[in-house]
Amino acid sequence: MEQVDCVVIGAGVVGLAVARALAQAGREVLILEAEAAIGTGTSARNSEVIHAGIYYPQGSLKARLCVAGRDALYAFCESHGVPYRRCGKLIVATDDSQLAGLYALQAHALANGVDDLQRLNGAELKALEPQLNAVAGLLSPSTGIVDSHALMLALQGDAETAGALLALLAPVEAVEVMDDGLKLEVGGAEPMTLLAKTLINCAGHAAPAIALRTKGLPADKVPSRYFAKGSYFSLATATPFRHLVYPMPEPGGLGVHLTLDLGGQARFGPDVEWVETLDYAMDERRADRFYAAIRRYWPALPDGALQPAYTGIRPKISGPAEPAADFRIDGPAEHGILGLVNLFGIESPGLTAALAIADEVCQRLAQDPRTG
Ligand SMILES: Cc1cc2nc3c(=O)[nH]c(=O)nc-3n(C[C@H](O)[C@H](O)[C@H](O)COP(=O)(O)OP(=O)(O)OC[C@H]3O[C@@H](n4cnc5c(N)ncnc54)[C@H](O)[C@@H]3O)c2cc1C
Repeated sequence: MEQVDCVVIGAGVVGLAVARALAQAGREVLILEAEAAIGTGTSARNSEVIHAGIYYPQGSLKARLCVAGRDALYAFCESHGVPYRRCGKLIVATDDSQLAGLYALQAHALANGVDDLQRLNGAELKALEPQLNAVAGLLSPSTGIVDSHALMLALQGDAETAGALLALLAPVEAVEVMDDGLKLEVGGAEPMTLLAKTLINCAGHAAPAIALRTKGLPADKVPSRYFAKGSYFSLATATPFRHLVYPMPEPGGLGVHLTLDLGGQARFGPDVEWVETLDYAMDERRADRFYAAIRRYWPALPDGALQPAYTGIRPKISGPAEPAADFRIDGPAEHGILGLVNLFGIESPGLTAALAIADEVCQRLAQDPRTG
């Protein structure tokens, strides 16, 4: 059986960031990706927003890793030539009943270390964005957008420069906890059995299923998985907005917001639709709700201006009736198995936080007697 120091399962933004960090720390790293290319999962189906870190519960991994990851991501984009823009975002209250919630959000953000939010009144908002209908808002100058594919290619480049190897079409089918490591059964055209000293499960939606197929890991250490689909509609016309525009958050998501891509194209979404299967098909009838939601903050949205774009599915580990779960980065301290780290529920802000998640994984491994 072939032996490897570290195996990372999954070449999404998180797996690539983890592989890069481990390889740069001098570890031998093999990345196993089930698909024929990197970044075809959730990392290719999101809003590409660099989040400031406003919304997450105080003290949560999401809050801490978003703020740390955001700063690390801006620096990484700058040093690696990854296209990004610190365009800023507006969170808006469209009537007086939302004002208390808006100001509570500002206080909440401050407690998370997001200390640059600026309060704007209706007139100040109009001056910034003449077509916006809002009574007040918060400007987040540290929110931005990034080219997620260029980011993943840069992470892959760094990882490979530091010696990491990437195997595509290499799905991990089963794992077994052994005395001296973790045995992996890898399928695909060239099936193989490997023994890894360290295994990082960054398989996104598939992470809980792989953990359930890990012989020796108690099933009660694996969360249930849920899917919350988000649909996007793009704007067929030129956008009048220069900032990202978010309404007040709604249960399960951030509300139907306006984001911009680096080409200046506007898109709206994602909404929240709890589904049973990982099916990215889009229900175009959802456009009706989009028009209604968007016109609360942009009354001039023309009829027929929304075009179906794409969907993404949030890898949730809490159901619709439960409070939103935090990221789970389960190392030996959580499950008792040396050398194994399972990442669960890496939904938004996982793109923003990827570099900080990678650091966090390295820290967990540093406390592991087998690898530390
Ligand atoms: C609608 C939506 C909008 C979002 N917007 C934002 C945003 O604006 N900003 C932000 O910060 N975050 C956002 N996110 C979150 C962000 O996209 C994710 O947190 C991030 O992409 C997760 O990356 P990942 O590497 O964990 O997962 P993935 O990108 O899903 O990668 C997992 C990889 O594992 C591979 N894999 C699966 N099973 C196996 C196996 N058995 N063997 C080998 N490989 C396997 C998959 O093929 C895939 O490549 C959004 C998410 C959604 C759904």
